[in-house]
This record gives sequence, structure tokens and C-alpha cells, in this order.
Amino acid sequence: MSECVFCQIIQKQLPANVIYEDKQVVAFLSNRPINQGHPLVIPKKNHANIYEISEDETAYLFRIVKRVANAVRDSIDAEGIRIVQNNGEAAGQVVFHLHVHVIPMKPQEGFSHGKAYRSSSNSRSADELEMDAKKIRNFFSGQTKK
Ligand SMILES: [Zn+2]
Repeated sequence: MSECVFCQIIQKQLPANVIYEDKQVVAFLSNRPINQGHPLVIPKKNHANIYEISEDETAYLFRIVKRVANAVRDSIDAEGIRIVQNNGEAAGQVVFHLHVHVIPMKPQEGFSHGKAYRSSSNSRSADELEMDAKKIRNFFSGQTKK
């Protein structure tokens, strides 16, 4: 069994609220969301960070990030979306399997560069996470290419 929690999710050894999956990429809700409807988009290959992944794989990953962002926008009551990708402990990376955060934001929360991306103050129950995932999945499947 892999030590990496994201690899365990990919291998279905750990449960996750998956909203999108293909041969190269999987997207699932963070279990420590900053806000409701906060997915992580990851390559299935265990690249630790942005330095290890090829340019082509990066391009494909961000193609899916774009689609996830559209689905989140359309399904969650958010007025803005932050896309965050941390590399190295100094940048706040906690899981060393490259991942991109797609974080819905509301104006009343204010925007601050100092605000942590990994607050767990908005923790959602397993049922709530699955409800959020269902909403996003519905919009995701209805998307057309842009
Ligand atoms: Zn991994």
C-alpha cells in the first residue's frame, strides 16, 4: 500500500468524493475545505511538485482544472474562485503529491494573501461533502468544451 494518501485515493484504498476521473487525472473534494465545494485536482502519477511533472502533463492537468473551475462556478454559490498550487513546505504544501486547489470564494470573506489555504474551520461532514460533490458532478457532466 502506498504511503501517499492521494495515491491511496487513486487506487481506491481510501474513500473520496470524486467529481471527475479519467486516465491521467482525478478531482475530488478536499476533506479540509476552505469553503464549501473545494476540489483538489491531481495527476494520477505521483509527481511531488511542479518541478517533477512534464510540461505536457501540466498542460493536461490545467485543462481539467479549467473544467473543474467552470463546474464549481456553476454549482456552488461562489462569486470568485482561487486556484492555488503549493510547492514545498515553505509554500504550505502538506501532501507531497502535486495537487491544484480550486477554492470558491465569497466577497464578504474578504481576500487576503495571508489567509491560509488550509484552514479546517469550515470542515464539512461526510454527508455534506457528498452533497457538494453531487452538485458539482451534475454541472461537470453537462459541460461543453469552451
Ligand atoms: Zn501520491
